[in-house]
Amino acid sequence: MVAVLEIEGLRKTYRSRRHGVRQALDGFDMLVEAGQVHGFLGPNGSGKTTTLRTLLGLIRPNGGRMRILGHEVPAGLPAVAGQIGAIVESPQFFPFFSAGDTLSLLADAGGVPRTRVTEVLELVGLRDRAGERVKTYSLGMKQRLAVASALLKNPKLLILDEPANGLDPGGIREMRSLMSDLSRSGMTVVLSSHILGEVQQICDSVTIISRGRRVAAGPVAEVLAQHSATEIRVRLE
Ligand code: ATP
Repeated sequence: MVAVLEIEGLRKTYRSRRHGVRQALDGFDMLVEAGQVHGFLGPNGSGKTTTLRTLLGLIRPNGGRMRILGHEVPAGLPAVAGQIGAIVESPQFFPFFSAGDTLSLLADAGGVPRTRVTEVLELVGLRDRAGERVKTYSLGMKQRLAVASALLKNPKLLILDEPANGLDPGGIREMRSLMSDLSRSGMTVVLSSHILGEVQQICDSVTIISRGRRVAAGPVAEVLAQHSATEIRVRLE
């Protein structure tokens, strides 16, 4: 087993004048193996975004250890930054630019050859509509464009915060086939969600978080065999 992501005992406390002290992560653990599409499942406010932002070095934790691709976070992040593609906030695209232009701009800014733009458009299934303005895209197409932007540098690890949020069943099927194509190509994907059905449809394995702690983890089928879907749904409320 090759661990792409290892988190042990992660703790994060937010302090604000308005809300006082809030324990967002309370000794959280997570392990993701190479080549998996791993679901990070938990209700709103359970600590998913905090975890993903901490992993990317955007938030400083109060305790715990994290390794990505064998490198300690945050000290080792610069060494692996080019191997991580991430979307942790809904990306804002210029509505009057085409998807192709949008990706070309991002490629130029990131020193990525333009030939890669055509490759990622093909990968996410947007090649035929690459010349159209983003404002004419459906939500699912915008989500796939976001994934395309994270794929430009051909990362080994892709981290996506709620990529299936708001998608209809057709959009979820497209996302599933995109994610399984990516994992077949050797990429590891971590995606967060607060909906069990999404994770069941898209992911191989899952970590369930509730109130900043891991409450279950493993292959999706195994976790569902140990904890009934009803029990998990109650945790997600
Ligand atoms: P969602 O799906 O709603 O984004 P989440 O699982 O990603 O939820 P987080 O956004 O990580 O959860 O939030 C975890 C807890 O930390 C919540 O109680 C939230 O209100 C709190 N929190 C998050 N960011 C801050 C902040 N900047 N200041 C204070 N509290 C915060």
